Amino acid sequence: MTAEILAVGSELLTPQRVDTNSLYLTQKLNELGVEVVAKGVIGDDRVRLTQAIEQARARTPLLILTGGLGPTEDDVTRDAAATACGCNLVFHQEIVDAIEARFRSFRRAMAPINRRQAYILEGAEILPNERGTAPGQWLRDQAGVVILLPGPPNELKPMFEAQCLPRLVQWLPQRHIVARVLRVAGMPESDLDQLISPIYTRYTNPVTTILAAPGDIQVHFRAHGSSDAEARALVEELSRQVEEALRDKIYSRDGESLEEVVGRLLSERGATLAVAESCTGGLLAERITSVPGSSRYFLGGWVSYSSHAKTAWLGVSPQTLETHGAVSAEAAREMAQRAREAACSTLGVSVTGVAGPAPDPGSSHPVGLVYIAVADQQSCEVKERRFVGERDRVRLQASQLALDLIRRKLVGN
Ligand code: AMP
Ligand code: MG
Repeated sequence: MTAEILAVGSELLTPQRVDTNSLYLTQKLNELGVEVVAKGVIGDDRVRLTQAIEQARARTPLLILTGGLGPTEDDVTRDAAATACGCNLVFHQEIVDAIEARFRSFRRAMAPINRRQAYILEGAEILPNERGTAPGQWLRDQAGVVILLPGPPNELKPMFEAQCLPRLVQWLPQRHIVARVLRVAGMPESDLDQLISPIYTRYTNPVTTILAAPGDIQVHFRAHGSSDAEARALVEELSRQVEEALRDKIYSRDGESLEEVVGRLLSERGATLAVAESCTGGLLAERITSVPGSSRYFLGGWVSYSSHAKTAWLGVSPQTLETHGAVSAEAAREMAQRAREAACSTLGVSVTGVAGPAPDPGSSHPVGLVYIAVADQQSCEVKERRFVGERDRVRLQASQLALDLIRRKLVGN
């Protein structure tokens, strides 16, 4: 089943207001196995809205409209929907009575214009509004289903859950949905897609969606079937092949974030961690400590930005910094080792690099050059990377790689 969503309101066409209702509705519809194939934002314009409704209904069996159900002249959704669906609007006195009662409970009188909200598409079911005056509407005709919902999210959400979900479950063919998300670190999106697109493009069920962020990619699978077991088996079949292709690049199969995975692995092994950060300025420590319970394994860290801080606080040798520079594999190695020793932790991790946007004064290092070291008692591994992008992106990718190296060290690959 497919659906379209139209968000109505001229304010949504300005830079000040964002249509969030369609995101909420898309999530809810996806959970029911309904795919949103198009959505739009239309100003408070009767003619344009009528056209948009007609076009959407000709393409898709389910259309949800949000907004434009208020009492004022610019609220045109009822009129446009009636014209587009070829039906009359019918006045319902019981709606006026309910709105009047609502105003009375606030010790206010209902304005005459609120009577506009009592007009319902002929044949539509009225969806009561617990939080406001505008009732929603559910119309089922030969073209499918049209749902009219109020714009304010705090009115729309409870109405959708209490009134629309049960009706949709009844109306939609019985389907079971199973989803899985694989999370991958340290791989460019194009490399990942090259590797796995020959696999997932062979399947239309499950549907595969790839969401990429700097240094972090989520691969989503959603399958539907006539039973839970059938949908689960479909996800399993595709996921197994993709997991084989990506192997140790995958850090989670159940939605866990990289910092959560690292925290869990440290806890399971009774291991502890200390960090020494230069170019990430505390971002690594922030991410590690964003996980509840991180005090069990995170002992502390240094944001050692200057050379003086690296030598005076951490004990990195001045010769190392003089000979190789603060952005070097040698500096990274010593920072990780000294942090580990000073904190008496199992692992010490360091990050040093050039976040940009300009190269460091007097340095020949390119922007984005980062060294990351992970030390334990026996050894210390150092990685050199050239990250591309703005300052924030370089810092985020550096913290991501540092976390992934900790993960790899803990799982032994
Ligand atoms: P309306 O039902 O058109 O009177 O909308 C009333 C208010 O709801 C607007 O002023 C917005 O603040 C909010 N609203 C309307 N449509 C949306 C939407 N698609 N997403 C988020 N908020 C909305
Ligand atoms: Mg509006």
